[in-house]
Amino acid sequence: MEKLIITAALTGNVPTREMTPHVPLTPAEIAADVRRCAEAGASIVHIHARDTGGRPTLDPAVFKATVRLIKREAPDVIIQLSTGARAGRDWEARANPVRLLPEMASFTTGSNNLPGIVYENAPDFLLFLAGVFKETGVKPEIEVFEAGMINNALFLVKKNLLTPPLHFDFVLGAPGAMPATVRNLVFLADTLPPGATWTVAGIGPAEIPLATAAIAMGGHVRVGIEDNLRLPDGAMATNARLVQTAARIARTMGRAIASPAEARQMLSLDPQHKDRILTQID
Ligand code: MG
Repeated sequence: MEKLIITAALTGNVPTREMTPHVPLTPAEIAADVRRCAEAGASIVHIHARDTGGRPTLDPAVFKATVRLIKREAPDVIIQLSTGARAGRDWEARANPVRLLPEMASFTTGSNNLPGIVYENAPDFLLFLAGVFKETGVKPEIEVFEAGMINNALFLVKKNLLTPPLHFDFVLGAPGAMPATVRNLVFLADTLPPGATWTVAGIGPAEIPLATAAIAMGGHVRVGIEDNLRLPDGAMATNARLVQTAARIARTMGRAIASPAEARQMLSLDPQHKDRILTQID
């Protein structure tokens, strides 16, 4: 079986210091945690930014400060910036992380409920953001909270805005969206076009069980405090411990862990884009 790509989702928009002492919030905390996760086997890091009050932000200055430190702490890891809406609903603001030219950025191709909000990604916004991905050449990770979002992504391929092979992230178990069951994971994986790659982000206690299913199925995994605060035994998790847990399960099942260079190849990332972000952050 192909090697396993582990993504660490370290911060997200929701976890606070009150919820867990282990969530990294400042650029320095995030960069230090990225290094620990990379050492534990993560080849991709999914990055959100927080302002000095710990609130979600899309301020490019915070992303830049974070990326600068990550490139110092873990120069080889693949940086994936979030375009999520909890940090702001302005279209241009949500596109700014893509315009910083990271190797990857997240792209949710549809709307659904999440706790307290409608996670709104309307059809005209999808066309707009897909256009930004096209014009920058940044590889999207298509975040799928509901099955129809796969079809929406394929529509954007038909419109010549997204370029296959696509990479998907099935986010399962968020309150308001698709439940975190192995049956749903199998259905979603079976729905993808040939050549697509996929990872799974199980929310809360589903994180490690769904990661285990994905490891067995030949998919990839996303773990981290963005999605889940606890280890399987109920203890409060650190991001590195979650990455170690996924890596250990994979090795136990005979599946090796991909390095960032191997992940780049498996995801068809342009090797020339590895450090392109450095041209945007000085
Ligand atoms: Mg996110």
